[in-house]
Amino acid sequence: MDFMKKARQRALEKDAADSLVRFRDRFYHIPGKIYMDGNSLGLAGKDAEGALLETLEEWKRLGIDGWLEGNPPWFRMGETLGAMMAPLVGAEAPEVVMTGGTTINLHALTSTFYNPREGRPKIVADELNFPSDIYALSSLIQLHGRDPKEDLILVKSRDGRTLHEDDIIASFKEDVGVALLPGVLYRSGQLLDIPRLVRAAHERGIIIGFDCAHSAGSVPHHLSDDGVDFAFWCSYKHLNGGPGSPGFLYLNKKHFSRSPGLAGWFGYVKEKQFQMNLDFEHSRSAGGWQIGTPSVFSGAALKGALKVFAEAGIEPVREKSLELTDYFIELVDKELAPLGYTVGTPREHSRRGGHVAVEHEEAWRICSALKKRGIVPDFRPPRVIRIAPVALYNSYEEVWEVAKALKEIVLSREYENFSKTPAAVS
Ligand SMILES: *Cc1c(COP(=O)(O)O)cnc(C)c1O
Repeated sequence: MDFMKKARQRALEKDAADSLVRFRDRFYHIPGKIYMDGNSLGLAGKDAEGALLETLEEWKRLGIDGWLEGNPPWFRMGETLGAMMAPLVGAEAPEVVMTGGTTINLHALTSTFYNPREGRPKIVADELNFPSDIYALSSLIQLHGRDPKEDLILVKSRDGRTLHEDDIIASFKEDVGVALLPGVLYRSGQLLDIPRLVRAAHERGIIIGFDCAHSAGSVPHHLSDDGVDFAFWCSYKHLNGGPGSPGFLYLNKKHFSRSPGLAGWFGYVKEKQFQMNLDFEHSRSAGGWQIGTPSVFSGAALKGALKVFAEAGIEPVREKSLELTDYFIELVDKELAPLGYTVGTPREHSRRGGHVAVEHEEAWRICSALKKRGIVPDFRPPRVIRIAPVALYNSYEEVWEVAKALKEIVLSREYENFSKTPAAVS
């Protein structure tokens, strides 16, 4: 038997022994498609759908009373979902709140900590981070009347894929006030050594936060134990909250007494919010960093999605995710490397998240060919195909199908049938 045949056999055996397989049917698989894009938008789940429909019924039945009588009361939805989320990132319940969105939460948190007049005007980020984060940090620096060209330090990548913790730490100088780094890099899938970076930042008096958009729901974090000052993430990727579902923010409890940088009435001490005082008294919890009314329907779907994680546990999810990606990487190395494919993701488990970056000169056209065949990956320029087999709903057999398709598309030059110009949303 040739290698691919044996590999398929192994996939079937792994699927038969998979303890998470019971969750597969809790999601809507798109007929005829193999979905490998859960790191961009997780699949719709039946639990999310059910919770959303319940909330619609509550609106019909309760009207305004849903704010106190909904399940959970809509008024406390941010805090309730924060408490459901907290175990997945290793935080205490009051340290996490559902609110806003990724980039808004970045603003809410960094504006709380960045105070250039105190003599530390620089912010450390990196040149591989998601562009929105860089736009946001630049605008924060400008709001303080300063120049991002001077004050925003972007740590360079040595290979265009990954970051060296040594290089990041070397940029932690005494004029740096805040550092913001990705948990998992969105393109290569590298997972940074968070405890080491936190120790180094704190030794130098720097506040450090992480954008966990690509790790939340895939990689277990230990934000409290690691002493991370702040973090934020979205819920529509690995957490399967649905398109445009709300973000989360985490704030270490030692910072609860600080004044929120972007205050709003949903951050008021809950019991007194409706006294409508003009003096702002923020809740001494992550909830104090909420700005306005939560998106109740989006939050409802997310509540359903988080229930699945409460049942499955984040550790088994991580274990299977690593096995799926190990298996895929092995197929790329053995079968696809001779066709010009390489793996851009670090190999060590401790250094990677939930997706694999497959690189190829013809990445865009290969992606188009995969889509034509009913396989859903995504493309990140200039030459990365991201493959995200998701532990809760993907199988080893599907991973095998993807590897087989990647092989055939190049062998038969099928990709040459597609345009070289990338689409607007990829
Ligand atoms: C997806 C993602 C975002 C998206 O930001 P939104 O405000 O939710 O649109 C931000 N940062 C990273 C690293 C991401 O992966």
